[in-house]
Amino acid sequence: MLGLMQDWPLLIHRIIDHAARQHGTREVVSRSVEGPIHRTTYAEVQKRSLKVAQRLARDGIQHGDRVATLAWNTWRHLEAWYGICGTGAIYHTVNPRLFPDQIAWIINHAEDRILLLDLTFVPLVEALAERLPTIERYVILTDAAHMPATKLKNAVAYEDWLAQADGDFRWAELDERTAAGLCYTSGTTGNPKGVLYSHRSNVLHSMALANPDAFNLSSRTAILPVVPLFHANSWSLAFSAPMMGAKLVMPGAKLDGASIYELLETEHCTATAGVPTVWLSLLQYVQNEKKTFSSLEYLLVGGSAAPRALIAAFEAMGINVVHAWGMTEMSPVGSLGAIKESVKDLAPDAILDLKAKQGFAPFGVEMKITNDANEDLPWDGKTFGRLKVAGCSVTSSYFRVDEKVLDDKGFFDTGDVATIDANGYMQITDRAKDVIKSGGEWISSIELENLAVGHPDVAEAAVIGVAHPKWDERPLLVIVPKPGTHPTRESLIAYMTGKIAKWWMPDDVQFVSEIPHTATGKINKLRLRDEFADYKLPEV
Ligand code: AMP
Repeated sequence: MLGLMQDWPLLIHRIIDHAARQHGTREVVSRSVEGPIHRTTYAEVQKRSLKVAQRLARDGIQHGDRVATLAWNTWRHLEAWYGICGTGAIYHTVNPRLFPDQIAWIINHAEDRILLLDLTFVPLVEALAERLPTIERYVILTDAAHMPATKLKNAVAYEDWLAQADGDFRWAELDERTAAGLCYTSGTTGNPKGVLYSHRSNVLHSMALANPDAFNLSSRTAILPVVPLFHANSWSLAFSAPMMGAKLVMPGAKLDGASIYELLETEHCTATAGVPTVWLSLLQYVQNEKKTFSSLEYLLVGGSAAPRALIAAFEAMGINVVHAWGMTEMSPVGSLGAIKESVKDLAPDAILDLKAKQGFAPFGVEMKITNDANEDLPWDGKTFGRLKVAGCSVTSSYFRVDEKVLDDKGFFDTGDVATIDANGYMQITDRAKDVIKSGGEWISSIELENLAVGHPDVAEAAVIGVAHPKWDERPLLVIVPKPGTHPTRESLIAYMTGKIAKWWMPDDVQFVSEIPHTATGKINKLRLRDEFADYKLPEV
């Protein structure tokens, strides 16, 4: 027997409609790409996203078509997302930090028909345009006054394009399983792979993440997502913030410590979200300039492992730091480190250790760790295995790739190696391909990096495995010193001694001015290994 409740499909445009109705005057504040701070409201965003939808329909965009965006976090990008999927088309976020060849490859693979782009990216796209045969029109996210002279096909200023619509448009009626968004993984090996979100998966994911033990959003929150809309579905914040009526503060193109600090303060933000490198630079800024936070209560960090020292530094300023883990394939959040009742009375140091773990899965995500025979491993906080996930917002296959990605039990292999403790807190030990295999045992590169970053003179640390005649691989620690400091190999080894097993100690330390990063802000181990390809460990 079926229930007798209404069939109310979980569609993304219902979120912006709700925000306009219930939180219509709540602000969306952006640092515009043109420079000045721009202010609008959810009521306005909804009206203009209807115009986007109407305008796209007039340009011939149909259900299932892909419309690409190459843009920073601003109100225009937000409107575009809602407008695109409200027509039944698919927003395809392109990460501008990818290599130009990858950008062209992705746009061609997705067969995008229209590209909406920020002024910043006009030169990049002009250089690529010849290789983008599927793009019929370029919409530059600016107004007539700032529109550059460009030969891009059918180029138009977004504001002019939008002015041709009156917003008298009905959202498309769709099955909730209709594709809504497309985001390619950064693809450090091989071609990037497209993850195709549905309306339903995005709505469910955003609902799960709005909760107190997740992003803790409410109509009183003011959140600044430093995480870009083009990185892993913006961790759902483009949906969960309007869903809850939280004020959205969009940083545009300026993501340096000083600019982020300024926006956090002037807009009285209570929450923010971003990757560890962003927080390392914000921390350096506030420490150097002796600044304090007047309204910030909650800081979400994820995308790569957050060093314990980083968490401790923000917690010492009275900010609740929540460490999250996830991946593009998971919409993207898979776990968050709120403090459960069962652990809340632990000593402050133990709480910090726990916060450095990647946390527990919210409703909608099931996780397990397995051995190579796909047998479940115990949740004892020590045994590590392959981390596998299933859930309502986890991918079931990649876009246009004929490859099985789920195991026989319907779980997706994340490629991460992790432990899970008795309280359900998961800890990433490493990427399966980055773990250092020394004498048949595994050494976690992440754990060594997190430890090294606690040294007072270290700005950033990376650990890679280097070939060793006896042990197969041994760890090499690569350090970027803080400006004006000169840490030595000996001081680092002394600092780490006693804090890790003896055999985990890096065999050597190298100092560099910069560590390479991927397009999503992670340490690029592949490139780092290339850079140290000729390096030989010192003979002991
Ligand atoms: P992406 O799809 O670009 O978000 O990359 C996903 C991968 O980033 C995961 O499979 C992890 O290897 C890594 N990652 C994300 N968050 C964390 C975290 N908090 N700690 C450690 N690794 C992380």
